[in-house]
Amino acid sequence: MSKYIIALDQGTTSSRTVIVDNEGTIIAIEQEEFEQIFPNSGWVEHDPKAILKSQLNTLHKVLTSSKIAVEDIAGIGITNQRETTVIWNKNTGEPIYNAIVWQDKRTANICEELKRKNLANHIKKTTGLIIDSYFSATKIHWILNNVPNAKKQALSGDLLFGTIDTWLLWNLTNGKVHATDYSNASRTMLYDIKNLQWDNKILEELEIPKNILPKVHPSSHTFGFYNLHGVSIPIGGIAGDQQAALFGQACFKKGEAKNTYGTGCFMLMNTGDEIQYSKNGLLTTIAWGINNKVYYALEGSVFVAGSAVQWLRDGLKIIETAEESEALADLVTEENPVYVVPAFAGLGAPYWDMYARGAVFGLTRDTGKNHLIKATLQSLAYQTKDVLDVMQKDSEVPLKTLKVDGGACANDLLMQFQADILNTTVERPENTETTVMGAAYLAGIAVGMWKQEDITVDRAIDTLFTPKFSSEKRNRLYKKWQKAVERTKNWLD
Ligand code: ADP
Repeated sequence: MSKYIIALDQGTTSSRTVIVDNEGTIIAIEQEEFEQIFPNSGWVEHDPKAILKSQLNTLHKVLTSSKIAVEDIAGIGITNQRETTVIWNKNTGEPIYNAIVWQDKRTANICEELKRKNLANHIKKTTGLIIDSYFSATKIHWILNNVPNAKKQALSGDLLFGTIDTWLLWNLTNGKVHATDYSNASRTMLYDIKNLQWDNKILEELEIPKNILPKVHPSSHTFGFYNLHGVSIPIGGIAGDQQAALFGQACFKKGEAKNTYGTGCFMLMNTGDEIQYSKNGLLTTIAWGINNKVYYALEGSVFVAGSAVQWLRDGLKIIETAEESEALADLVTEENPVYVVPAFAGLGAPYWDMYARGAVFGLTRDTGKNHLIKATLQSLAYQTKDVLDVMQKDSEVPLKTLKVDGGACANDLLMQFQADILNTTVERPENTETTVMGAAYLAGIAVGMWKQEDITVDRAIDTLFTPKFSSEKRNRLYKKWQKAVERTKNWLD
């Protein structure tokens, strides 16, 4: 009899649930957006209950539309926006503050304090990360120190911290399981990725009581059970969205890499079971834990990518849909003199500047909205080049093709420009839902539906984009981009 896996993909802008059959084919999908809350300049929040509601709505809808019996669901996998921080009261289940989202910059000054205390080396060596407000650690500190009574409640054992996977897991198991996986733990800036334990020194520095932290397990593991209409379904897989995409693209071997164009842009390269530190501004992170082993990755994180396209749509209102950006950008036939540096949330890899802010360069009297649209799309490709260049330096592995996925990789103009500016072939698979597939595979392996070696990912290629620019043109355009980036740095005092 056919068995199925349900995979939950809790993203930054929407929640999705898919059902995957035992051939690894997605047979049903539901998606729901939820509200982005911007209470102050540089602050980004989500309502944890709205996240949970949208996730459960899509889960129930997908079950109804697929008409699959609950008894035929073999397991559930979860993948999630990473670093986003929730703290809730374990007695009432109520969050004590909104979720502070990974893009939120309010804790930059707490990071400065850590740097002043010379903790950068310790943090890099232990957690693999660069001190930045991006990660959960300083967000936890902020909530505990800014919500009345929070510190006291935390010390008395009434509060729990979780990234979004943990928040969903706790709710799906009716408050029974407070846990996360290695990949998510490695994004908190509190986790020792070598010794696989929470780091006491960083906890002390940030005054975070250990009792609020979740237990950490391998990514493919039975975390607990979700009771759905009287049937107990094992929750068998958890991984942060970028690590799940690496798994979903079947980048199982050392040196294999992918680039995801979602809200942000994230390039990850599998470095096998060895920790590799970057000399050029990349992060070291846990890829996943499976079959009693832990695997690592190098990561280049770009904070603003697809969300710059959302800014064109919702902020500037010069496009109606993200898809429309392609046709309008295509109307600019000459070389685009305009550069947009979307440093809306500072700059991530490889620059790590929390004080950079966005800017537009090269405006002249004849600049029109299509130039801005094209420059915004091009900024995704330039940022990817920034990251790929340093990844090649660090890993000494020349990349022959770039495997892509994520919402914005549907944009042909962007993908062609990406190939042109990298001078590398860009490979877009037919199935770009690799993040959610990663979560499905991890869960399916834990419940015995698949073995990792059996996962012959359907690598059917949709399009190969091959580079066309001369090296003179590529270098000239990229130099201008680098000049533009320099001018956005350290904008805030
Ligand atoms: P996430 O999982 O981070 O929420 P997705 O992978 O679902 O993101 O991708 C959605 C993002 O991709 C949005 O920010 C959207 O603006 C962008 N996007 C979607 N389609 C296109 C397109 N055709 N061209 C450019 N950007 C797009």
